[in-house]
Amino acid sequence: MKIYFPQKTFIFIFIAFYLIGCSAEASTPAPTKPTKPSVSYFNTTVSLTFDDGDADTYLIRDALKANNLRATFYVISGKLGEDGFLTEEQVKDLAADGNEIGGHTLNHTKLQNLSEAELRQEICQDRLNLLSYGFEAVSFAYPYGYHDAAARQAVQDCGYNSARTVADGPESLAPLNPFALKAMPFIVQDTTFAKMFRYVQDVEADGGGWAIFIFHHVCDDCDQFAVDYDTFVKFAEWLNQQQINNGLTVKTVNEVIGGEVQPGVTP
Ligand SMILES: [Zn+2]
Repeated sequence: MKIYFPQKTFIFIFIAFYLIGCSAEASTPAPTKPTKPSVSYFNTTVSLTFDDGDADTYLIRDALKANNLRATFYVISGKLGEDGFLTEEQVKDLAADGNEIGGHTLNHTKLQNLSEAELRQEICQDRLNLLSYGFEAVSFAYPYGYHDAAARQAVQDCGYNSARTVADGPESLAPLNPFALKAMPFIVQDTTFAKMFRYVQDVEADGGGWAIFIFHHVCDDCDQFAVDYDTFVKFAEWLNQQQINNGLTVKTVNEVIGGEVQPGVTP
């Protein structure tokens, strides 16, 4: 008996391990083919644009860099360095990171009921200032989005390659009128991260296009036209992931429009 007992024990342990092995095997998922991402953005381009050169936009410099994003900053050259606005040095830092610096007039003047000379002063002189700082200013944004035929003509005469409005987006990727680029609704204090990425999803679902986002301030509850810092960073991280995994493209306005840097024009 003493001889057989260890053998029985051995058989028992062997069966026990065999059963454990079977159950472990059963719980291991069967190998599957890699699944396609449920959402892709191969037909959509996003541009991040910041109007006015508000000082607090400098806060997101690192978030842009960390997420391999380059934005377009439409600055008001007559206000650089004033209280609440970016300094020339800060704008140079942003440009050095690969961000685009565009024009937004000399004094943020609404381009309405102005003489041709006044239009050229606001638009051409602003652009000359930006060029003199070393910024290749090729993109413009209309203050308050206002534009009429005279304003659109002046922007072209001053040597810009495009001009952005504030409404009616998304734009098509071959814009019908580069001097009246359509944009997504303003990002305001109430715009959630979910709403921001749904804008992108909806553009793709509708066949794709160019979603130009308009930001102003970056702060918590400091202004109606503001995005809070954490929401922006979350959106930046999401955009980066979609670029890496799901075919999304994020470009500056100039990277979409292209064209030469035209010489500055004296007002
Ligand atoms: Zn503005």
